[in-house]
Amino acid sequence: MSPAQPARPAAADAPTALVVGGGLAGISAALVLAERGWQVTVAEARPRLGGRATSYRRGELVVDNGQHVFLRCCTAYRGLLERLGAGPETGLTVLQDRLDIPLRSPEGRSARLKRTNAPAPIHLAGALAGYGLLPIRDRMGLGRAAMAIRRTDPADPRTDAQGFGGFLRKQGQSRTAIDRLWSVISTATLNIDPDEASLALAAKVFRTGLLEDTGGADLGYAAVPLGEIHDVRARKALAAAGVSVRDATKVLSVDADRTVRLRGRDEAQETLRPDAVILAVPHDAAAALLPAELPAPFAALGHSPILNVHLRYDRPVLDGPFVAGVDSPAQWIFDRTGPSGLPGAGRYVAVTVSAAERWIEQPVAELRPLFETELARLLPKARGAQVEEFFVTREKHATFRQAAGSARLRPGPDTAAPGVLLAGAWTATGWPDTMESAVRSGINAARVAQEQWKKANGHRTGARA
Ligand SMILES: Cc1cc2nc3c(=O)[nH]c(=O)nc-3n(C[C@H](O)[C@H](O)[C@H](O)COP(=O)(O)OP(=O)(O)OC[C@H]3O[C@@H](n4cnc5c(N)ncnc54)[C@H](O)[C@@H]3O)c2cc1C
Repeated sequence: MSPAQPARPAAADAPTALVVGGGLAGISAALVLAERGWQVTVAEARPRLGGRATSYRRGELVVDNGQHVFLRCCTAYRGLLERLGAGPETGLTVLQDRLDIPLRSPEGRSARLKRTNAPAPIHLAGALAGYGLLPIRDRMGLGRAAMAIRRTDPADPRTDAQGFGGFLRKQGQSRTAIDRLWSVISTATLNIDPDEASLALAAKVFRTGLLEDTGGADLGYAAVPLGEIHDVRARKALAAAGVSVRDATKVLSVDADRTVRLRGRDEAQETLRPDAVILAVPHDAAAALLPAELPAPFAALGHSPILNVHLRYDRPVLDGPFVAGVDSPAQWIFDRTGPSGLPGAGRYVAVTVSAAERWIEQPVAELRPLFETELARLLPKARGAQVEEFFVTREKHATFRQAAGSARLRPGPDTAAPGVLLAGAWTATGWPDTMESAVRSGINAARVAQEQWKKANGHRTGARA
């Protein structure tokens, strides 16, 4: 994606695109096509952009639907942040200078995963050797598994057919090492238990993030509500690029000849026939929208839930921006005080519970005592503090099920119908279902739309190369 440039109006004979879905994939596809001179419309069913990475107001708080982090290796998402004027230099997002993750266990033990500036993977050697949450015997075996992951090819279908947990056990990793180290990263990034997780996706995460580049896993997060970036800023960038955004507009069907039926804000139905339709919606929505003659085996990708538990205390309970919990359902605890609009720091925390099948349907009356107790075990300052507000956000379809064997179900951007394209974090980007994958998928789909259009309309001049 190019840096923001003043919008040049699309030429009168410019090709037209309808991007269905205003999540990060749709926003990215729309920006790229607009930069290439297309006349672009985004149709988003909800009143806001940002899809699964967004915010809403709850009383005096602005709450993210779920805590989101990115890594320095997420170059496409970071490019989008820059494009939206929300890179770390703006203060809207934070990116660590150096990976530094504090970890705590309920029995009061702690560790720190902090890298040095040495070349990868040596940059983590000291942190792993001193990783106090594992016995020395387990720590000594970590390097062997890390090297085995480094030799793994994430693009090989045989790798995807294997589970990550089984692979780790073959590399001599104990249950404790899996639970207290490997799973802390893999469950958070893949949203599935290591035993079920695709080895290919786990290898992608560990190789690209931790084992190949010194700074790859430096952690980033939003310092403002996600909606400020993915909705407010995205709308501004889209408008500046000349993209028309139609929110509260649901696409009802897409035909193989690119005829699209949609229902707008005023409930009126409309039919469009753009030169390209990019379906940047979740996989089940794409399967439902496509006509019967375009097969959608990706409907079988399934879903994994994420639960976020929100606790507002009467005093600060967290000293830093976040802490990871081990041996606890409170997997990652983030300070959201400032971003939510509250004064001070450390008083309002959002707890991420990934792979949350066990918790996702539990009523608040059961979750509240459980998580209050967990946080008191993990955070000494929470022990005497009063919880003033407790609520949860449930995302039952947070990601697709990133299980062994899922890679063969992830399609590329093109379908059997020219001009009908797929985008979304679930498509075949090689990345897990993340913001990075979403942005990459949108860029890929826009590229293929452009290629297809040029092939079919080489004589027209409307779109820029
Ligand atoms: C709780 C939670 C925590 C997460 N944590 C992280 C994290 O820490 N890091 C990370 O990188 N990723 C994380 N993710 C994943 C990340 O949010 C997604 O991978 C990414 O946002 C997906 O973007 P997308 O554009 O592909 O799809 P979506 O965000 O799902 O966007 C699709 C859009 O299409 C719209 N739509 C659907 N059907 C129609 C229709 N018929 N007509 C018009 N519009 C339609 C939807 O309303 C939606 O806005 C998390 C997700 C959740 C839910």
